[in-house]
Amino acid sequence: MSCSRGNINRNRPQKHQNRTVFKNNLHDTSKKTKILNNLEVTGVCERCKEIIEWKIKYKKYKTLTAPRKCVGCEQKSVKYAYHVLCSNCASEKKKCAKCCKPVDENTIKKSAEETEDNKYETILKSLPERKRRTLLRYIKKQQDGEEISNSTIEKLLLEIDQISLEDEDDGKDWSSEDD
Ligand SMILES: [Zn+2]
Ligand SMILES: [Zn+2]
Repeated sequence: MSCSRGNINRNRPQKHQNRTVFKNNLHDTSKKTKILNNLEVTGVCERCKEIIEWKIKYKKYKTLTAPRKCVGCEQKSVKYAYHVLCSNCASEKKKCAKCCKPVDENTIKKSAEETEDNKYETILKSLPERKRRTLLRYIKKQQDGEEISNSTIEKLLLEIDQISLEDEDDGKDWSSEDD
């Protein structure tokens, strides 16, 4: 039986932070490699993103020397290698710029935030209504751009968790604020 599930009291850093991965800039510090390593692959579906990132990683990525003709608007407006749709067409048609399969805009945006969100979601679900709302307010504030760091939320989570252990049945002492 695994006990890793629900391990929400964790306050040590992520275990696999320093994974040994293939480094394409180990012996190559060229400007191009640097730029490519910083290139954010956007406008494509998850699968194509992986493919392109793989190409970058293993130096198979070939940048476009000139803009390519877009299969959507037929203008020479494709600026990224391996894309067949220009950014405009891709976002307008909500299609992957590479394979042209329909993509949900949210999936593209989501992928970056997903890990963060999921982390809290499991915890949030296990909380009593009022505590959950308090926490959600913090998360919302953070998303609105207020300066609430992740560590503040993590700390809050820890506190919430401790409170719920001692005071299992309700959240009366936790917050006097109500919506
Ligand atoms: Zn186009
Ligand atoms: Zn695709």
